[in-house]
Amino acid sequence: MNILAKANAKKLLRGLFIDKPGKIDLYAIAGCENIFIEEKALESCEGQFVFKSGMGIISVDAELAESGQKRFTIAHELGHYFNSGKKENSFFCSGLDIRGIKQNLYAEVAANDFAAELLMPEEWFSTFTKGKKYSKFILADAAQYFNTSLSAAALRYAEIGSYPVAIIMCRDGAVKWSRINKYFPFKFIRTGSKVSSSSYAYEFFKGEKISNDPEKILADAWFWEDFNYKKDYFLYEQNIPMYRYNSVLTILWEE
Ligand SMILES: [Zn+2]
Repeated sequence: MNILAKANAKKLLRGLFIDKPGKIDLYAIAGCENIFIEEKALESCEGQFVFKSGMGIISVDAELAESGQKRFTIAHELGHYFNSGKKENSFFCSGLDIRGIKQNLYAEVAANDFAAELLMPEEWFSTFTKGKKYSKFILADAAQYFNTSLSAAALRYAEIGSYPVAIIMCRDGAVKWSRINKYFPFKFIRTGSKVSSSSYAYEFFKGEKISNDPEKILADAWFWEDFNYKKDYFLYEQNIPMYRYNSVLTILWEE
């Protein structure tokens, strides 16, 4: 997590005396900064931000189906504004960047880190998830409680939650990146490796519609190269498909 981006979000929340998720009004925050928010059809990006002569416009793709995803996108664009020191600038952000599928551009990753801390502040998220075992319900509950996208809540859970989980982003049938928290029994997934045909995520790349529900799976489907590899060891696999990007975010946890 980008420490400066996180500090920027924390400072903003503190400065506005915001003390619970329901009070985070992104339209009001933007309004205070002379930034107007609009929804419109965007062709090659999901969000954009232009700031000039003391005024700004955030545009969010009206086609986004999930309201939590729209909200995360607005928070991401605000991240560009606060992270760049409120300077004149413009950003055209693809879904690949905002959804964290690609993680190669500093400003984009920092804007996501800002958005995550703004919508799901670390302290509140820890309190919310404390003592709760991971389940598809906790993810959906967190996304609803913090009014954000399922995938953003999953990333936050892997970062902050204290229950053993691994998350893996795959695109075009191969692993793009993975994040495995320290409590999880396996540690190694090779970046670039092909998605195993014994995983549920594989069904997605075969062009099939896949379920959001968790399913039981052998650890072999993901961790055949792991140093701690164990035979007949079961995990749960849950997938968040991103059809528009031929990508899927997989969450794995212990039985
Ligand atoms: Zn961006």
